[in-house]
Amino acid sequence: MNEASATYDIAVIGGGPAGLAAAIALAETGAKTALIARRAPYADNRTTALLGGSVDFLRQLNVWPHCEDKAAALQAMRLVDDTGRLIRAPEVRFSSDEIGLDAFGYNIENRALMLALEARAAEVSGLTRLDDEADTIDPQDAEVVIRTRQGQSLSARLVVGADGRQSLCRDAAGIEVKRRDLSQAALTLNIGHSRPHKNISTEFHTPDGPCVFVPLPGDRSSVVWVSSPKEAERLIGLSDEELSGAIERQSHSILGRVGVEPGRHKFPLAIERPAQIAKNRIALVGESAHVVPPIGAQGLNMGLRDAADIADVVRDALTAAEDPGSPQLLGRYASARRSDVASRTFVIDIANRSLLSDFLPMQTARAAGLHLIDSIGPLRRLAMREGLAPSWRRVS
Ligand SMILES: Cc1cc2nc3c(=O)[nH]c(=O)nc-3n(C[C@H](O)[C@H](O)[C@H](O)COP(=O)(O)OP(=O)(O)OC[C@H]3O[C@@H](n4cnc5c(N)ncnc54)[C@H](O)[C@@H]3O)c2cc1C
Repeated sequence: MNEASATYDIAVIGGGPAGLAAAIALAETGAKTALIARRAPYADNRTTALLGGSVDFLRQLNVWPHCEDKAAALQAMRLVDDTGRLIRAPEVRFSSDEIGLDAFGYNIENRALMLALEARAAEVSGLTRLDDEADTIDPQDAEVVIRTRQGQSLSARLVVGADGRQSLCRDAAGIEVKRRDLSQAALTLNIGHSRPHKNISTEFHTPDGPCVFVPLPGDRSSVVWVSSPKEAERLIGLSDEELSGAIERQSHSILGRVGVEPGRHKFPLAIERPAQIAKNRIALVGESAHVVPPIGAQGLNMGLRDAADIADVVRDALTAAEDPGSPQLLGRYASARRSDVASRTFVIDIANRSLLSDFLPMQTARAAGLHLIDSIGPLRRLAMREGLAPSWRRVS
């Protein structure tokens, strides 16, 4: 990457997975792009189930070859009602071969994905990295002026805000956000186990949220265990032996003996919906644009579709010699993203509420819905395809 210069077509702010993917994709459109992001080792042990077009998009960006050997294929998904309630849903099992795919996607540790994104970002021409943070972001008529914490100043015609939940870009654009804290927290950790996972991801639905076991390469899986914040606090404080035992019990020993690996993290869950996804020369991607609980592995998959779509609209604008930060371009990006983000946020919210609800009709509706999905072939296939990506998209 080159020395920083003062004016750019695009400045991407934030170097999480969504920001890095967006910066690579944008630089590859030929846009003169700056990435303002601190280089820091990835701080937690989350993994991402990359579904649908996400892997195709990472392949197009030439990122996937840097990490595909670290990913495990997801060939089947089991949903198991473990609520112990009177009205329970049937077990539902989806297989990727039912919709003609070798795999629904691939699960990878975020750390490995980040290293691959960083490696690719370092070799893309037209991308300038500023190892810094944005301090002030000032949208003006023809450009956005950015000052960094280390006192550098630059301007760009479009800012891509990939700065996560506490987004300075979103504030600078004047976009309001609706936040609903859920009284749930997710414990994340990785485990080794004595029985093979056979590339099957298993989701146990408990009355406090899902507990999900997602394959990693070898006899390893990642665990996302959603529970009440108090229970998550208790679990994170257990010894390795106690936690291994608790996980083995929660998994009903489907993976045999379980041993927890070092490193556990806890994430309070929330739903966040910004009023707009783009305004005043600033377009949001990733968690600055949507936060959903980890149900159905949708968060970063949506973030990668944001990155793909902003790059597409910028490519078209540059080809037509248009301003890449114009209200028309922001409008095109917003309409490309609106229904994907709104429909997924809604479905995830409903799925989560139906699990937590003690209201008998809600439990009945949930069980009946899963029963229909389980027993009606076309509905099963529709649910599988929609779970991967919106049906109106072919790739990414
Ligand atoms: C328990 C759990 C499990 C999940 N599992 C999945 C899954 O299986 N599949 C899936 O698709 N999604 C999953 N998700 C969601 C996924 O992890 C997130 O969507 C994703 O990590 C968000 O990436 P991001 O790049 O938008 O944000 P972040 O990773 O938060 O990156 C934002 C970056 O911006 C930087 N930043 C902030 N302010 C500034 C500034 N002023 N200047 C410069 N940089 C700044 C931050 O330091 C950070 O590096 C899960 C989430 C949780 C909580």
